[in-house]
Amino acid sequence: MKIYGINNLTLLDYPGHVACTLFAGHCNLRCPYCHNASLVLNPRDQPTVPEDDIFNMLAKRQKVLDGVCISGGEPAMHDDLPVFIGKVKELGFNVKLDTNGFFPDMMAFLLKDKLIDYVAMDIKNTLDKYPLTTGMDFLDVELVKKSVEYVMNADIPYEFRTTVVSEFHSREDFVSIGYWLRGAKSYYLQSFKDSGDLIGRDARLTPYPKDEMEYMRELLLQYIEKVEIR
Ligand code: SF4
Repeated sequence: MKIYGINNLTLLDYPGHVACTLFAGHCNLRCPYCHNASLVLNPRDQPTVPEDDIFNMLAKRQKVLDGVCISGGEPAMHDDLPVFIGKVKELGFNVKLDTNGFFPDMMAFLLKDKLIDYVAMDIKNTLDKYPLTTGMDFLDVELVKKSVEYVMNADIPYEFRTTVVSEFHSREDFVSIGYWLRGAKSYYLQSFKDSGDLIGRDARLTPYPKDEMEYMRELLLQYIEKVEIR
């Protein structure tokens, strides 16, 4: 699988683990607030990291790291993901998958073969606001519903997460999302930040102030056990 970048050390990306993060390219969505525009829009123009270099690096760091996050772009759209993860796991690492939830069959396969140890799945918005929030007119949100079901029934830790943008998300949306995901164990609200490499370069996108994020957190806590702001 093609990897376009590595973050050598993170204490934040994989809860409870000292990890590195590998970034896959391409994505089926075009979220205007996406902070990895070049990886999503022009992956072919980006340099890749040779697979041998990745596995040599991981082999050398077995004593320092205990986890590998596979992020993107959207890693689950790549058919060679299971083989790639298999090699990572052979080196003894726990694997966290970041996904937008549009590839439930891949998710089911990875879960069945015990190739992932943690899933972080994006919840872009209420299902009816997915087109607005992802920059795509036509989407099959049934795929997302299916992934939610798989994640909530999996026997590994997981989180749902939403990048909150004031132009896309309202208080009412979080009541609906909470009801949809009721009984979920863990949900993170991430305040939108402009990375300078956004897909929606010309869009007006703003974060909410802290107290509004806290209010939304309280709304979600009516339905979900643990809700935190990142
Ligand atoms: S933020 Fe959206 S466009 Fe960017 S990688 Fe994630 S799902 Fe794809």
